[in-house]
Amino acid sequence: MVTITLYGGVREIGGNKTLVTDGDTRLFLDFGLSFSRRSLYYQEFLNPRTHSGVRDLLALGLIPPLDNLYRDDPVGGVPFSGARPFVDGVLLSHPHADHAYHVSLIHSDIPIYASEAARRILAAMAESGQSNFENEVIEHSYREPGKYQYEKRRRTVHSVQDGQGFSVGGIEVEPYSVDHSVPGSVGYILHTSAGLIAYTGDFRLHGTHPQQTARFLDALKEVKPRVLIIEGTNIDEPTGPTEDDVREGVQEVLKSYSGHMMFCTFAPRDMYRLTTLYELARRAGRQLVVSHKLAHLLSSLEGCGLSVPGLDDVLVYNPKRRWGIYDEKEYSTWERPYLDRHNAVRCDHLRRDRGDYLIYLDFFSLGELIDIEPPAGSVMLHSQTEPFNEEMEFDFERLRNWLNRFGIRYEHAHSSGHIYGDRLREVIQELSPEVLIPIHTEHPEAFAGLAQEVLIVEDGEEVVL
Ligand SMILES: [Zn+2]
Repeated sequence: MVTITLYGGVREIGGNKTLVTDGDTRLFLDFGLSFSRRSLYYQEFLNPRTHSGVRDLLALGLIPPLDNLYRDDPVGGVPFSGARPFVDGVLLSHPHADHAYHVSLIHSDIPIYASEAARRILAAMAESGQSNFENEVIEHSYREPGKYQYEKRRRTVHSVQDGQGFSVGGIEVEPYSVDHSVPGSVGYILHTSAGLIAYTGDFRLHGTHPQQTARFLDALKEVKPRVLIIEGTNIDEPTGPTEDDVREGVQEVLKSYSGHMMFCTFAPRDMYRLTTLYELARRAGRQLVVSHKLAHLLSSLEGCGLSVPGLDDVLVYNPKRRWGIYDEKEYSTWERPYLDRHNAVRCDHLRRDRGDYLIYLDFFSLGELIDIEPPAGSVMLHSQTEPFNEEMEFDFERLRNWLNRFGIRYEHAHSSGHIYGDRLREVIQELSPEVLIPIHTEHPEAFAGLAQEVLIVEDGEEVVL
């Protein structure tokens, strides 16, 4: 018997945790953090308690109540018997938090399957972010009461490669690279005893690598999956800007503001957007200046076979820290290698030759504007999604206040990481699956009539094939 159960991504964007069982074999497709559900109870300064993290999230119904799945250190707060774990593995589609982060709550005996780029991005983000038991996907601190030096536990990560099949228990798996707003994104085909199940993860056809998604879709057309679990973020958005439109928009901004100081911001894992900005800036005679965090990501991805800039291709901005004296001790260990590099720059560099740079500045680094002293008429190229909820509106308002304060103009160029509605419908009709399960969408009803059987399941409801 084959079953599919969605424990997240139901009438919500993100939080995918899809359990597939085939006889004795059990696996999860992603095990993400649901921001929308988490924000019902938590916010920036109200978080699950470190000493009983899993128990807290279980008590609030934010993760599925399954035995022998979660880590057993006090962060777990729940038993793990040492007998066979609840699942044989987790197949990660890509390194976005809403698909990957709650893997950190799963026992380290349970292996995960992910692309090499996804593994490196998740590791680098955890190293350079705040230590947090909800983002320790690749390696976690085993927290024992009374101990203040934690032992690190590394989980087994099996590297998946485009088109190279492998098996998890009795299920044969074929991974395919897909284009999304982060490198290392993968869609999967599962060969089960009830037929083929395809899972798209997050994907698009209008990005920088549409040929990857096209190859996945070609493979699907050939094998005709019985079940298609497909993301539907933009089902209500018939069409929208493509990455080519972003290129055009960015080129226009670079041309219009030639000679002016220029800043940019984009989603921190979107190395494809970084690459676009890097290339276009270079052509316009500007050097891309990145933060320590981005430098750490670029450094982690070197030698990984991705066509993204290397660390030597960009300049690295050194912000002032505690006393503003640029002493190594003022910086975290992970960022020290970036301080004295030949391509490190400080605010005084950027104040000279103002038209020579494209300076990445994220929301939490807006204070740097005070040191960089941009003249009125500078520009901020906002290359990420505009606010779509109240919290984001507040932050966006703050960003606008900073820009207004310094007389900085605002320009926008962005394209969604998700396939648009019209194309999504065509894809489903081309594949004509027997069973369609929409996920990662607020509007599953909009998929009605697109396949023989469209299953709009409830959270935790088991589908038997
Ligand atoms: Zn995503």
